[in-house]
Amino acid sequence: MNKFDVIVVGAGTAGCMAARTAAKAGLSVCLIDYKRADSIGDKVCGDAIGKHHFDNLGLAYPKGDELERTIMGIEVYSPDMETVFKLSGEGLYGFIVDRRLFGQRLLKEAMDAGAMLLDSTQVIEPIIEDGFVRGVVARDRKTNGKKKILGSVTIDASGCSAVIRRRLPPEMGIETTIDKRDEVICYREIRILKNELEEPEYCKIYLNVNIAPGGYYWIFPKRGSKVNVGLGVAALANFPNPKDQLYKFVLSGEIFKNSIFIHGGGGIVPTRRPLDSFVSNGVVVIGDAACNVNPIHGGGIGPSMMAGKISGEVIPDVLETGEPTVEKLWLINIRYMKTYGAKQAGLDVFRLFLQSLSNEDINYGMKYKIIREDDVLKAGIEGDVRLNITDATRRLFMGLGRVSFLRKLYKMAKKSRALKKIYEEYPLSPKNMPEWKLKIKSIWEN
Ligand SMILES: Cc1cc2nc3c(=O)[nH]c(=O)nc-3n(C[C@H](O)[C@H](O)[C@H](O)COP(=O)(O)OP(=O)(O)OC[C@H]3O[C@@H](n4cnc5c(N)ncnc54)[C@H](O)[C@@H]3O)c2cc1C
Repeated sequence: MNKFDVIVVGAGTAGCMAARTAAKAGLSVCLIDYKRADSIGDKVCGDAIGKHHFDNLGLAYPKGDELERTIMGIEVYSPDMETVFKLSGEGLYGFIVDRRLFGQRLLKEAMDAGAMLLDSTQVIEPIIEDGFVRGVVARDRKTNGKKKILGSVTIDASGCSAVIRRRLPPEMGIETTIDKRDEVICYREIRILKNELEEPEYCKIYLNVNIAPGGYYWIFPKRGSKVNVGLGVAALANFPNPKDQLYKFVLSGEIFKNSIFIHGGGGIVPTRRPLDSFVSNGVVVIGDAACNVNPIHGGGIGPSMMAGKISGEVIPDVLETGEPTVEKLWLINIRYMKTYGAKQAGLDVFRLFLQSLSNEDINYGMKYKIIREDDVLKAGIEGDVRLNITDATRRLFMGLGRVSFLRKLYKMAKKSRALKKIYEEYPLSPKNMPEWKLKIKSIWEN
């Protein structure tokens, strides 16, 4: 039986970054994935990553076959297609990657740093003793044999399946279940179009609550005339099948006529505020398993890598001091909430508001620029929801009989700022969690 400093469950973007950082700091790391080594990174995704994430993480930009296209920004279309917000600028430059090759690069960096990979291995459950996670039980998919792997700290980076998080006892203080309504169910295809898209340096996002309720559909340009086209719907009651919606409303369009199908597949995105806490005795949860995703656009690659890096930096110091207790690992919570979690929480209020709007609301809101393009950009980058309601718009909306919409918007922006502030004042120790949770609860209950 092996014993490692760190076991990382899942070699996705979160897990590889955690493994790479911890191994670079000199820890023994066992990185486990269900997939075969050469399939790691091959995930149904939009394949878009902001350039700023690479800058913040000190990661080289994608190049060669890994880079499918450089992106200048995003175009957001209103449901009636009459208004297009064209968002570009520093925070929106980015890349469309070959997802498998990008994942393979992250995996190689983790292994080059010294992490040991156990591929084709399914983690089944955590080993819990004396209130600490001490490792995992796993099944070798080639031999079907079960084994125990021990580690001082176990990181759950298993994506939406959250194989460790779901099996933690409640007294460990980590949320084990996620409300289905906070998830977006997606289906996407890779296709080659007859002709290249117009303005292929812009990712295109389309809002329409009849076609993609609680989500959106997208066309992201890849190399040449290849595109990533997909649709996501919130998992609310009676949600429609995203694949049916994509075929009926999107792929039936003129630009997809005679296009060539390359690949299709589905996936789930947790689009909510982060877990209240990612850590407990001997365990850390990161990436999709910890809801480290931007609630508005569902981008989770950047934040998941950030959570991986933070964990990989904190754990070596913790292990130097003995047992990895919740108190010592708490710094991971503090650092994540400061860098990204507070913004995510503020945006979650905005997400719930957006999911409550009708197509008409969105058409009016975009047409009369209640939130301006640069404010959308700021909301996306900093998490601050700013409104642009002048006397003229107020009079206009009164004339249209839609004052209640403005009122709702005001309330949302206020709540979003309030929640962000509470996350910015995240407790410095687990002792103060009950008090902090009460503050959050009061905002949600309002
Ligand atoms: C359709 C779709 C489109 C998206 N588009 C974008 C986008 O354009 N940009 C963006 O930034 N984000 C996007 N996202 C979100 C993004 O893909 C995720 O947030 C990100 O990949 C999270 O990384 P992760 O490492 O937490 O999880 P994952 O990348 O899912 O990795 C988890 C790993 O754990 C392994 N695993 C799972 N269970 C076990 C187990 N029991 N034992 C062993 N291994 C296990 C899996 O094989 C996998 O390799 C999209 C998501 C979807 C579904």
